[in-house]
Amino acid sequence: KPLVCIRHVSKQFANGTLAVRDVNLDLGTGEFISLLGPSGCGKSTLLRMVAGLGTPSTGTIDWPTTNHDASGKPQRDLGFVFQDPTLMPWASALANVMMPLVLKHVPRREAEARAVEMLALVGLKGFETSYPRELSGGMKMRVSIARALVMKPKILLMDEPFAALDEITRHRLNDDLLELWWREKFTAVFVTHSVFESVYLSKRIVVMAARPGRVMADLDVDAPYPRDD
Ligand code: ADP
Ligand code: ADP
Repeated sequence: KPLVCIRHVSKQFANGTLAVRDVNLDLGTGEFISLLGPSGCGKSTLLRMVAGLGTPSTGTIDWPTTNHDASGKPQRDLGFVFQDPTLMPWASALANVMMPLVLKHVPRREAEARAVEMLALVGLKGFETSYPRELSGGMKMRVSIARALVMKPKILLMDEPFAALDEITRHRLNDDLLELWWREKFTAVFVTHSVFESVYLSKRIVVMAARPGRVMADLDVDAPYPRDD
């Protein structure tokens, strides 16, 4: 069973902009999916709806394997990474990563241990007490990824996470993200406008068109080339 089923989803904003038009997609457990398309094609709008940040105008987004609360809302088990790391500037790297655990009333010692472990997994061992202003852009992004993964979500949604970083930093983060995905076995959805990045990272590339927010292709990049003979 897929983790998320997107059926005939469209989104029209109040100002009339039709950002997403009739999208049908299954997000399978354990996949690493790139959502590729030019700026403004509706990638972010679609990703945000999967996260429950904004609702479709028409169509449905179901989580068939997830528990639902009394009112029928799915308990979306996800982490979200924005292009801007959005860290709390007054809090250490450790405190930033601990935040989701603290909000869920995980006991302090356990929360700290899990956050320390998560920081090590993203390559920031030794930076626990550093503040965001003391960290580079790439390191801040690593903290942001650690924070998104610390609750061990089933799916990690990333909205052009590395777009603002320089090439070398981007390359390192791409490699480390792949390793993290192998190790932690979450489903990954990675929004990008970079063909290079989508091919580098994923075996499945969903291509959206500039206008009108449609899925134009759903490519299995790993599949053998079909032959006639
Ligand atoms: P992408 O992530 O592919 O760059 P977006 O999903 O951000 O694209 O935007 C798709 C389209 O919807 C764009 O034309 C954008 O200007 C428009 N849009 C995004 N958010 C809003 C909003 N809150 N209100 C009105 N239009 C919006
Ligand atoms: P865009 O679609 O945003 O223009 P490109 O994929 O064309 O981005 O990449 C722009 C530059 O960044 C190229 O020189 C490319 O080699 C480099 N680049 C993009 N992604 C990566 C990556 N993951 N690792 C290293 N270099 C990258």
